[in-house]
Amino acid sequence: TVGNRSSKIIYGSITIIVLIALYFSSVYNYLVFHTLAEFFSVLIGVTIFLITMNSMRFLKNNYLINIGIAFVFIAFLDVFHTLSYPEYGLLSDIHQLPDQLWIAARLFESLVFLFSFRCFRRKRTLYPQWLFLIYFLVTAGIFTSVLLIGNFPITPNPDGSLSTNMILAESLIIILLLLSIYNLFQYRDKFEAHSFRLLTTALFLLIASELAFSLYVGTNDLINLIGHYLRILSFYFIYRVMIVKVIEEPQEIIFRELNKEKELVETQNELLRNLAVLDGLTGLHNHRYIYERLGEEIKHFLRYRTVFSVLMVDIDHFKNINDTFGHLTGDAILKELGDVLKTCVRGTDLVGRFGGEEFLVVLESTGGVDALGVAEKIRKEVENHVFSEKIHITISIGVSSYLEGLSVNDLIDQADKNLYEAKRNGRNQTVYKTKTPRT
Ligand code: GH3
Ligand code: MG
Ligand code: MG
Repeated sequence: TVGNRSSKIIYGSITIIVLIALYFSSVYNYLVFHTLAEFFSVLIGVTIFLITMNSMRFLKNNYLINIGIAFVFIAFLDVFHTLSYPEYGLLSDIHQLPDQLWIAARLFESLVFLFSFRCFRRKRTLYPQWLFLIYFLVTAGIFTSVLLIGNFPITPNPDGSLSTNMILAESLIIILLLLSIYNLFQYRDKFEAHSFRLLTTALFLLIASELAFSLYVGTNDLINLIGHYLRILSFYFIYRVMIVKVIEEPQEIIFRELNKEKELVETQNELLRNLAVLDGLTGLHNHRYIYERLGEEIKHFLRYRTVFSVLMVDIDHFKNINDTFGHLTGDAILKELGDVLKTCVRGTDLVGRFGGEEFLVVLESTGGVDALGVAEKIRKEVENHVFSEKIHITISIGVSSYLEGLSVNDLIDQADKNLYEAKRNGRNQTVYKTKTPRT
């Protein structure tokens, strides 16, 4: 879609801008490069936090709520890490603050990723205000201890090689992240396939970025650049998880529900339509539908000149059947007669229940003589048919064909008159007479 393509263009451009900005700044000035690199990940971190706070009711996943809230504190630690560079002259250069804050932030971050899985043990959705308070206190604790005690000393050895502390800290961070990935696979069922993939990718990118920083010994700028870039990318994937969870998945659910609702309405409409045009006892079309259909047939005739005929069918002495066998048997016979009538005509013809024990048959593309033939065939078929309880019945039929100028009522009226003539003449017979239209 257009929206998809334009968002791809925009994201692609941003990626290229970030890549170029970081590369040139790294060549030009380390402080600018580092500030920009941290700025990009802080930007994404704060965005993740804001999305989380604004979509608590969609984000039913405790793990993501936890991470989303922690991200503002990770961003906060990174801001201070950036500002603590001695070149800024903002904070006194005690205990190698930038290094300490950085390793503290990474440890905090990997612990958040790992321990957030514990939230799945709670059934209820977490209270964000309590999480916020806890992370606030932890962050405050980190600051105080770094400033007062300097408990994360990782300064490189005088010869430029990594200090033992740095190696230990990086190893710990990578182990914690690997455990997070292990846990993620354990709790796989808590995530949709898409968000699971994004989250796994984010964690692997984070590990790759830590590996890059571990290899960085202060001289290789390219590896440092790659490390920062991988971290920004990792954060971007977590941002994608949030977007998928709070926008794309809920929309998909709404869309699916809407479609289900639509299908339900359609089937209900069909049911109502059937109720309106079908006869409850025989399942044949009812009086109302017969009139609709005859109207259509007349329109068809006026356009294509296709003749058609109707048969008015009435059971002879049906009262006697009811009186002798009861109404239920009478009902069963009406139903059975409907089936017999249908077997005698074409699928495109209409057999309807006109009312009581009267049926109306519409024969398409059939003129008077042919209609008379069909009527006789039906009459004989019914005469020979053995109905339930070995009952025999006969029918009388009035036939009339459509001629230009007749109305639906004229046509039915003529069929009715013919039917009564058949009754008068002794029943179990067919009468065909056409009404001449007044011109
Ligand atoms: P004729 O040969 O003159 O048509 O005699 P008839 O008894 O069939 O005609 P009449 O119109 O006097 O009676 C029709 C009977 O059809 C009356 C009624 O009890 C019966 N009937 C109409 N609708 C139903 C129905 O839905 N179920 C049952 N069981 N009987 C019905
Ligand atoms: Mg009758
Ligand atoms: Mg009758």
